[in-house]
Amino acid sequence: MTLVVNDLSAGYGQLTALRNISFSVEAGEILAIIGANGAGKSTLLKTIAGQLKALTGSVVLDGEDVTALPASARARRGVLMVPEGRRLFPSLTVKENLQLGTSTGRKGAWTIETVCDLFPLVAERLNRTAGQMSGGEQQATAIARALVGNPEVMMLDEISLGLAPAIVVEFYDRLGEITKRGTAVLLVEQDVKRALSVADQVHCLLEGQTSLAGRNLDFAEIAAAYFGTE
Ligand code: ATP
Repeated sequence: MTLVVNDLSAGYGQLTALRNISFSVEAGEILAIIGANGAGKSTLLKTIAGQLKALTGSVVLDGEDVTALPASARARRGVLMVPEGRRLFPSLTVKENLQLGTSTGRKGAWTIETVCDLFPLVAERLNRTAGQMSGGEQQATAIARALVGNPEVMMLDEISLGLAPAIVVEFYDRLGEITKRGTAVLLVEQDVKRALSVADQVHCLLEGQTSLAGRNLDFAEIAAAYFGTE
């Protein structure tokens, strides 16, 4: 599996929030997307997921151009998002939220049972109403919900936000289990050092444009690209 993003631009009304972004990610790789608040990171993920229309460019999954497809059709092809703020159904149980995640119809390594092995936090709370759980439990459930859809590409939008460091470490420890089955991960993360600790490649955005991208980048170079200083 290869995800190719080519010359992608998107925006909201008059505002072009993302301009001419290109990269490619292979099965099992982690791409960290970094940048300051408002740089366009979430906009990039939403455009890849099909929640936002591309103004220019294409999203190609394993040779198939999916740019014109709605989000639901991309999800059935395995392009799945863990959105910022989790977006669980708070009045449903954890198990019911996970069952909704299986609606991609995709079969693979991940089932409700196997995600429970990966996230004991979820296993212990299956019959609990999602809205009653702690932030960490909700985030684990949101990741598990995407996983049971057996993603080719899993996009994680700021999964660390507002969570205790110990929980965040646990999530990052699990990423290897996910990528080793071939899933590519696009990771939006405010904590740049944490993102770099797991990333195979980095894409740095500044005001909607690529300021730096590549593999094995030097931290000083990344810091300069992040803040837009030379
Ligand atoms: P953050 O870390 O704050 O989430 P981000 O890098 O994810 O930032 P985006 O959320 O993609 O940035 O926002 C990029 C630009 O698009 C910003 O100028 C933002 O104000 C604008 N924007 C984001 N969502 C909307 C929206 N729904 N309507 C209008 N403008 C939006």
